[in-house]
Amino acid sequence: ASFADARLDPRLLANLARAHYASPTPVQRHAISIAQATRDLMACAQTGSGKTAAFMLPIINRLAERGADATADTTAATTDPTAAQRPVEPSALVLAPARELASQIMVEGAKFAHRTGVRVLVVYGGADIRAHIAELERGVDALVATPGRLLDLLERRVLSLRSVRHLVLDEADRMLDMGFEPQIRRIVQAEGMRGAGERQTLMFSATFPKAIQKLAAEFLHRHVFLAV
Ligand code: AMP
Repeated sequence: ASFADARLDPRLLANLARAHYASPTPVQRHAISIAQATRDLMACAQTGSGKTAAFMLPIINRLAERGADATADTTAATTDPTAAQRPVEPSALVLAPARELASQIMVEGAKFAHRTGVRVLVVYGGADIRAHIAELERGVDALVATPGRLLDLLERRVLSLRSVRHLVLDEADRMLDMGFEPQIRRIVQAEGMRGAGERQTLMFSATFPKAIQKLAAEFLHRHVFLAV
């Protein structure tokens, strides 16, 4: 099997070749075709399995095909400094437990998004929020975030989740271990966020304990279960 079999945009295939990704790993092969079929997914996969590309490739591919219009939209809004800023509306949101992981996801996503017009950004706690706000206001299509910083940006009305069509929870078990369950619930239930079945939700976790099964039952709609 090759990436070409996955019906990816030629620009993404070129970016994969440039990044020396020759053929998909097992989790990529399965997750990409499930995501292309716009199904929800619960995937049990470890770090090192290639799980990041398994969710970022189909999402960037979809956004590239649709044409990244969010960027153009918000640029117009920032040209008048006196105008009240409209909240920025990403089309995809990826939640990750920690800043290092979130940054790695953004870097990998940016490789795939090269020359597609899809803008990938990362925000996390412990960094200057004003810098994050300035970056966001230049437009974002796929936002990678840690839960606390994302809630902070929502509370400041910098961000709205009403346009999120693709939601990813990466390393969901680690997010629960770190005590992020209340924050995750507030994000998924945020004002304007589409319900399960109206958005695509992809959950990744190394382990599959009761607490993750419960979240999966709540957040996913008629999902496919994948263990690699
Ligand atoms: P991950 O499991 O997503 O953390 O990925 C582990 C590492 O494998 C990362 O450094 C990726 O850049 C790399 N990688 C993922 N998928 C592929 C692939 N299909 N071919 C080559 N390298 C890959």
